[in-house]
Amino acid sequence: MAANKPRAVVSGGAGFIGSHLCHELLDRGMRVLALDNFITGSHQNLVSLQGNPDFEFRQADVNHGVFIGGDVRYVLHFASPASPPQYDSNPIHTLKVGTLGTTNMLGLARAKGATFLLASTSEVYGDPLVHPQPETYWGNVNPIGPRGCYDEAKRCAEAFAMAYHRTHQVDTRIVRIFNTHGPRMQVSDGRAVPNFMAQAIRGEPLTVYGDGSQTRSLCYVSDLVGGVLAALERGDELPINLGNPHEVTVLELAETIIRLAGSTSTIDYRDLPVDDPKQRRPDIARARNLLGWQPQVSLEDGLGRTLEYFRSVV
Ligand code: UDP
Repeated sequence: MAANKPRAVVSGGAGFIGSHLCHELLDRGMRVLALDNFITGSHQNLVSLQGNPDFEFRQADVNHGVFIGGDVRYVLHFASPASPPQYDSNPIHTLKVGTLGTTNMLGLARAKGATFLLASTSEVYGDPLVHPQPETYWGNVNPIGPRGCYDEAKRCAEAFAMAYHRTHQVDTRIVRIFNTHGPRMQVSDGRAVPNFMAQAIRGEPLTVYGDGSQTRSLCYVSDLVGGVLAALERGDELPINLGNPHEVTVLELAETIIRLAGSTSTIDYRDLPVDDPKQRRPDIARARNLLGWQPQVSLEDGLGRTLEYFRSVV
């Protein structure tokens, strides 16, 4: 291992976005230590890094604190269940990793003099009453609903990042990640893209919740990771939205996936989950101006690439 290369610690490194981040950090000439407890991450996501001398993996739960020897330049906190069914079935763990886990990772960054980056979320805006959502919007979150464990944990995580920045002068970043898709999403994580793709490939009906008029804006994972690294390099301590502003209804998304898959699947309308946000689209003016970043991959190109992956695993 080349000790002169900067070293990054990635919590949630075996997760969907975390694993893409590990690959990209290595490609950019860094050393990477990935941490994961496998509540939602997967060994499979890091298989191709085994044997890379600049890559280390440690199975660890960051809620319990982690001792890391040696230098660390960057701490990227990506550990957390992130799909609604996953955090709904792990609410206490989700709250802990956003709060205790975040303080432990901030403590690590402080001790090492490292830059800390928090993977926050568009869920901090809850069911937004302002559209599209700029970073200045404070959100509309139900703290006691089924999504409260995730939304409030991430809001608390943001407050911790600001507190460590103001109190201990830790160099911090907060990125608010909007819906993202790509290879290595779990087939069974319960989100719209994996569900619809698996259903379309199998020729089963696509389960659209509600009447499908709720909107989302989907970013391809390579664009998202580019934004995360731009924020790490050129961001400041204030939150930055990262996502693709191309907004579609969930029904349009389902129909697009059926068409791209060449599938004969129909639509099966189901009940809308409690507190499901009715609309979501990032205002990315801040990312454009501060980072010179914007997504490059169109919705259909991205969905096509993700579909290729799902064809190999479904
Ligand atoms: N959704 C759906 N069918 C599914 C899974 C999700 O209609 O099988 C809807 C869900 O109700 C939401 C949108 O798709 O309105 C996006 O859901 P996802 O779980 O992907 O992420 P969210 O944006 O809600 O965190």
